Amino acid sequence: MSQETKSTDFIRQIIDHDLSIGKNQGRVHTRFPPEPNGYLHIGHAKSICLNFGIAADYGGKCNLRFDDTNPETEETEYVEGIMDDVRWLGFEWDGEVKYASDIFDQLYEFALKLIRDGKAYVCDLTAAEVGQYRGPWSEPGQDSPYRNRSVEENLDLFERMKNGEFPDGSRTLRAKIDMAASNMNLRDPAMYRIRHAHHHRTGDKWCIYPTYDWTHGQTDSLEGITHSICTLEFEQHRPLYDWFVENLGIHHPQQIEFARLNLTNTVMSKRRLLELVRGGNVAGWDDPRMPTIVGLRRRGYTPESIRNFCARIGVTKANSLTEYGVLEQEIREHLNKTATRVMAVLDPLRVVIENYPAGEFENREFINNPEDPEAGTRQVPFGRELFIERSDFMENPPKGYFRLVPGGEVRLRYGYFIKCNEVIKDPQTGEVVELRCTYDPETSGGKAPDGRKVKGTIHWVSANHAVDAEVRLYEALLLDPPENPSPERDWKEDLNPNSLVVVKGAKLEPVLATATMSDRYQFERLGYFCLDKSATESQLVFNRTVTLKDSWAKEQKKNA
Ligand code: ATP
Ligand code: MG
Repeated sequence: MSQETKSTDFIRQIIDHDLSIGKNQGRVHTRFPPEPNGYLHIGHAKSICLNFGIAADYGGKCNLRFDDTNPETEETEYVEGIMDDVRWLGFEWDGEVKYASDIFDQLYEFALKLIRDGKAYVCDLTAAEVGQYRGPWSEPGQDSPYRNRSVEENLDLFERMKNGEFPDGSRTLRAKIDMAASNMNLRDPAMYRIRHAHHHRTGDKWCIYPTYDWTHGQTDSLEGITHSICTLEFEQHRPLYDWFVENLGIHHPQQIEFARLNLTNTVMSKRRLLELVRGGNVAGWDDPRMPTIVGLRRRGYTPESIRNFCARIGVTKANSLTEYGVLEQEIREHLNKTATRVMAVLDPLRVVIENYPAGEFENREFINNPEDPEAGTRQVPFGRELFIERSDFMENPPKGYFRLVPGGEVRLRYGYFIKCNEVIKDPQTGEVVELRCTYDPETSGGKAPDGRKVKGTIHWVSANHAVDAEVRLYEALLLDPPENPSPERDWKEDLNPNSLVVVKGAKLEPVLATATMSDRYQFERLGYFCLDKSATESQLVFNRTVTLKDSWAKEQKKNA
């Protein structure tokens, strides 16, 4: 990043200050610590851009660390998916991938130290009892009856916990801090729980597992993290993390909290995303409607657009809700600069140009991208039979309709003027099935030599050359919730029934038969599109990444 564009958010200001006073010997080391219990979403992208972005800006390092303290939920599929997502976004972590489980042995040693120092104890209260003793925040809690066990007894019981002598949930190891603390996290929090569970990396070695609170700060410390950036809900945990590293006498990373990303018209918690996947509401984690990185990627989002979005929203300490349209605007801007303009007809109506010789064709020259002179031009076949969009013809047009009407003239994109002379209908249904037209050969350049004007320009494809495709159109995953929803209301009631519309039988310009997964197109007047991963040689499938304008927001307003 150049000096002029260097972001000056409050986190970078803290880092600038730390560097100016020589803290951490001038090192900047961050980390991105996902729990591998699902695929990453756009909220994680904010954290990724922040952590890896800071490392890049300051010539520092950023680790990728999996928080795998919870043995039951982690899956190798998610671990690999997350690595893939980080790389796709354009970042690379420092050294090997780290796992919280890498330090399970060390954490055990640390726990022994706290026990020996009289700062941790084995407690036999049940989870419910622990809650009762902890009390409400407004009143001091009560000491556990096991709080004053001797060091020897604690060492003995803790070792036997580790050796698997006690059933799940029967005992915990707790830090001995302050049962009267106003911060509930300091009321003797659990450090270890007994859980006879298989772990994806340590196997059956452990039947006690460290809590997230006991693991997080020590992992940061041992990795030499200088700035441990996390979301606001961990603010109240900071005093606890500080207590642990200070009482262990180890490196003290500085935790800094920022507001998480919230977006309208979607869900962002992995738990809810998993609910959609399991419930069959979407076709998987990479369904193009999902706010996951894999979903956005399949939808046609580019890494640049997501990074630009994260830069645009910035980082603050105040919780807020960002319009989904802000994300869409970023991909629109990027694709406007990079996508090849093509023609596609989603709802085809046949046009026969009666004065154009059958069996003859010509090439029309198209500009690939008016925003990019380097992109050049291509030839698009034109002939007697075309398809146009059904909505570009109206038999009884309202005032102000400038497209094709009976007896009217319209301009074909990069082509001639055509005039509609006859409307052919299905005798049974009355549906318009074909338009008989004539073209004016004098209007090849898109202008009439006699100076007569047409107001509308429509897109088309040559019927003889068109390729068939399925086209998938998307709307928001969730509709706006009602003004004051009751807390019991199921969030899934807001699922948008039109979030996916499948269009079969679309007719595309022949060049699209050679589309590859990395190609991005603007189907003129219809939006930006890309090939879907399900496409085969015999069945093209395209996803609409985004419409050309923010029609969704307008639609919502209209219906409000
Ligand atoms: P979720 O509730 O979606 O599962 P999480 O916070 O439990 O999210 P983690 O895998 O623990 O997910 O998060 C990894 C990192 O990403 C954390 O540092 C977390 O603070 C950050 N993160 C998660 N969601 C967001 C968000 N919406 N905005 C910004 N950062 C986020
Ligand atoms: Mg989590």
